[in-house]
Amino acid sequence: MKRYDVLAVGGGIAGPVGAKLAARDDLKSLLIEKKEVPRHKTCSGIQFPYLEELVGSKIPKSKLCSNELYKVEMVTPDDEVLNGKMDMLNFWRKTFDHWLCEEAEKAGAEFRDGVELKDLQKKKGHYIAKLKENGKEKKIKTKYIIGADGGHSTIRKKFRPEEFSGESRGAVINLYFDGDPGSLDPNTLYMIHKKEFSDWMFSWVYKKDDDWIIGTGSKENPMETCKNFYDYIKDKYELEGEIVDKKGFASGSSSTEKVFLGHGNVLMTGDAAGLVDLYRGLGMDAAALSARLSVKSIKKAEISGKPAINHYEKLMDRIIKQKRKHDRIQKKRFSSDEVLKKSLSKSNLMKDGLKLLFYSKVVNRLLSTDKKILLPP
Ligand SMILES: Cc1cc2nc3c(=O)[nH]c(=O)nc-3n(C[C@H](O)[C@H](O)[C@H](O)COP(=O)(O)OP(=O)(O)OC[C@H]3O[C@@H](n4cnc5c(N)ncnc54)[C@H](O)[C@@H]3O)c2cc1C
Repeated sequence: MKRYDVLAVGGGIAGPVGAKLAARDDLKSLLIEKKEVPRHKTCSGIQFPYLEELVGSKIPKSKLCSNELYKVEMVTPDDEVLNGKMDMLNFWRKTFDHWLCEEAEKAGAEFRDGVELKDLQKKKGHYIAKLKENGKEKKIKTKYIIGADGGHSTIRKKFRPEEFSGESRGAVINLYFDGDPGSLDPNTLYMIHKKEFSDWMFSWVYKKDDDWIIGTGSKENPMETCKNFYDYIKDKYELEGEIVDKKGFASGSSSTEKVFLGHGNVLMTGDAAGLVDLYRGLGMDAAALSARLSVKSIKKAEISGKPAINHYEKLMDRIIKQKRKHDRIQKKRFSSDEVLKKSLSKSNLMKDGLKLLFYSKVVNRLLSTDKKILLPP
């Protein structure tokens, strides 16, 4: 049976970042992804520039979309429109994640796609991971596991099966529009805050290369809600054309909201750890940062002889506190259109904008990569 120091499960953001950093630290690392890569991933693929530092590699221009995003347009429940400027990275997850897996490989990690983790068992200070590849089962031995298998995590289900029996959070739908985009601007991210289109967070419109993407998430009738949102956008920005593709994503169970950092030498990262933050509307930065901290914890465990989770819980403490604070704000914000309107008042948005600027341009510049504050703060 093959032996590794670290098994990183999932070729999204957290898995490749974890495998790469572990390999750079001379830990024998295996990264597995259940799908053949490059694979599609439902995600807007928009981030603050600090993601480059968090993933630990310079992003080649060829991995980004041809149209840059540097403007934001917010629409409030009252149809008030607020515009601002913000530097953003814009990429397709299919391209980006594939490149991240290649970066892990370049750093010395072994990468295998089309390999799914089916089960794991603890045995005398090691884990035996049961993998499925080309219909055949294989076993490997590993000392540490980085659980980076996303919102429908097999590893999390193993530890917390009860979380997966509850009702679903609904679905996210992206519609791909082709035609005349009217007054939509290719360099703007549109964030529409209206409860009728989503009762969790804003709905969105943006451009990626030649595609316009119009999407929202909803618990009840997601497809119908997204079509209503499309009609609203079509009228507001005078689009003329048609929807040429649709892509959906079932939003897992309540596990995506609850934090679970793992057990023993199994460390959960990114969406599998429940780091989804609807207030920020982002998760890739949290996935990359948690992967960094998981590797740091493994190194500490190698020295201390204690389970890696003891170190990881301490290192993740501030991130979890921020996420919980944001969850409370977001729940309150979306409790009614009135509260939503108030929280999106011009003065509140100005305050939030200034805070974001201060944290991104001043605070984060003074902090080391592992200590960066997730934005917006
Ligand atoms: C509609 C939508 C839009 C979003 N937009 C943004 C955005 O613009 N910016 C942003 O920062 N975040 C965004 N997010 C959130 C972001 O997509 C996630 O937070 C991020 O992908 C988490 O990364 P991860 O590495 O934890 O998991 P994932 O990226 O989900 O990767 C998990 C990987 O594990 C693989 N896997 C699963 N099970 C197994 C198994 N048993 N064995 C092997 N492999 C397995 C999966 O195939 C997958 O490739 C968005 C999310 C959604 C749903």
